Amino acid sequence: MHTLVSTDRRLAWAAAALAFAVGALAFPNAASANSIDEQWHVTDPIIGLWEPPRPIPEPKSRWQEPQPAGLDSLSFPHFTGTEFNRLFNTAGLPNLSSITDPPSITDSEEMDQAVRIRAEDRGYLRRPLPHDYSLLRFIDSGLALQRPAAEAWLALAEDAAEHGFELELNSAYRGHRYQREVYLRPLDSPYEIDDLAERMKMSAPPGYSKHHTGYAIDIGQAGYNRFGSSPAYAWLAADNFANAKRHGWIPSYPPDGGRQGPVPEPWEFTYVGVEAILCFHQPPAGDDPLCNS
Ligand SMILES: [Zn+2]
Repeated sequence: MHTLVSTDRRLAWAAAALAFAVGALAFPNAASANSIDEQWHVTDPIIGLWEPPRPIPEPKSRWQEPQPAGLDSLSFPHFTGTEFNRLFNTAGLPNLSSITDPPSITDSEEMDQAVRIRAEDRGYLRRPLPHDYSLLRFIDSGLALQRPAAEAWLALAEDAAEHGFELELNSAYRGHRYQREVYLRPLDSPYEIDDLAERMKMSAPPGYSKHHTGYAIDIGQAGYNRFGSSPAYAWLAADNFANAKRHGWIPSYPPDGGRQGPVPEPWEFTYVGVEAILCFHQPPAGDDPLCNS
């Protein structure tokens, strides 16, 4: 009995399989709407031997890695983006006033308060103005900097020129009124808080710009619209900004700066001085003759 049942089952199975096969032959396109395409690909002859795709040539850059630092070169400590920010905030730069009442932004005190809350949420800090304006130095085209920053800018521009890069100074010291113009320029009055908040990604509201201090510069390279992809920027940024540090400059809003106000700005640098850069990681009362203050 057992054998018979089993045979019957096998017969039933064979019949079902046959019926399925006949169905498939009768309706060859029923299994898939794309089967005509699939058949075409299967029967499409492969012509010639398969060759791996050729790599697309990389665009050639003028930038080359600098030689390792020589014996007479200073070796600068490396900083993360947040450390660069802390370095500027703690540099103790001379000739700065104390921070007083915030300047007007939109002429509506209620709106200004909303802007300040959003700015400080983004990591913007209030920045001081110069204490004694007679100590500022004019560079060119009416651009002014604190004296040590003015000297350091000229030295940086000269060093860059010796390496074949023509640096341009696009912005330096800015007062509250000028910063207000820069901040509001692309917006229409009456101002909406969402537009004012969006604008903060690119520009500081008045009272919050590092340009107020006279120690921040916006620079460019002649012939390049995007400074961040220019050869001069690559030269400055190599080895954790060694060529900027050599003259006391650090990136103002570095790529990994975290909550620092605007989105990263490759064109803005701040002056802190070589000593502050060398001594940042040193204990303040160490026995190093350079970092003993
Ligand atoms: Zn700037």
